[in-house]
Amino acid sequence: MVNGLIFDIKRYAVHDGPGIRTTVFLKGCPLRCWWCHNPEGISQEKSLMFFEYKCMRCKTCAGICPSGAISFENGVHYIDRSRCNNCGLCSEACPTEALRHAGQTITVEELLKEIEKDVLLYDNSGGGVTFSGGEPLMQHEFLEEALVECKKRDIHTALDTSGYAPERIFSSVVDYVDVFLYDLKLADEEEHRKYTGVSNNLIKENLRMLAGRGRGRDVILRFPVIPGITDTQKNVDGLVEFISTLKGINEIDLLPFHDISEKYCRLGIEYKMPVRQAPPQQKLMQIKERFETIGLYVKV
Ligand code: SF4
Ligand code: SF4
Repeated sequence: MVNGLIFDIKRYAVHDGPGIRTTVFLKGCPLRCWWCHNPEGISQEKSLMFFEYKCMRCKTCAGICPSGAISFENGVHYIDRSRCNNCGLCSEACPTEALRHAGQTITVEELLKEIEKDVLLYDNSGGGVTFSGGEPLMQHEFLEEALVECKKRDIHTALDTSGYAPERIFSSVVDYVDVFLYDLKLADEEEHRKYTGVSNNLIKENLRMLAGRGRGRDVILRFPVIPGITDTQKNVDGLVEFISTLKGINEIDLLPFHDISEKYCRLGIEYKMPVRQAPPQQKLMQIKERFETIGLYVKV
């Protein structure tokens, strides 16, 4: 049995696949999308978050930190993350939870206990469990074991994935997944590298593989609408061209950008997005209509 590292379990989720679901967020992602909405899921280790509004400047954390990573200057709380070794002492000692570590080690057995609490809800709503992240395939052994246990219990499973994993790893979970929530971001490889840090070749190959195995009907594509980056006519046309070569896929969800710069501040990581505004409704409608031209059902 392999342990997993998760950073959240969201109950009563209604946007992560069919019915009412429990979404499990796994740590670790090989992509570095500029707009990532779950930056606390990127690192494969626990992530220290600082919620300034909760801090009462008691300095307990500075006193307990063995690395001298926390200091105060003129009443301002500083974390020198280059000195932090993630020992967790500060977040354990903080009386107000102003410091919190995102990341919890969990066994498959413990996770299944959490998932099973809502079995009645899944049965009544046609829901189930969704594995998200981060990129869940970064912890593929844990993911596979958890999926197998879900299937033994007849629990519906969804995988929210970037599709970025070696084909051997991707294939190892395919038979235990009922629905794939599959991200498609940028059609052009160079653009994909620029804005996500990786090529899109594997992502396209794994999607072709799914469609080739007759699983296209189990795929719901997800398209993050990122102003000035993914929402261009050229990119949408490129994706339309690619998707139209795949058999069986008939749904795409548009995920409009929203500003989450504050989360990046809490984690002490750079937020690269040059814009902060959500895409206008008119732009979403234009994109919707373009995807509809190849027969896709488009959810906004
Ligand atoms: S222990 Fe918590 S409340 Fe006290 S100074 Fe540190 S972060 Fe702020
Ligand atoms: S996690 Fe440990 S090393 Fe890092 S700031 Fe907190 S107490 Fe210091």
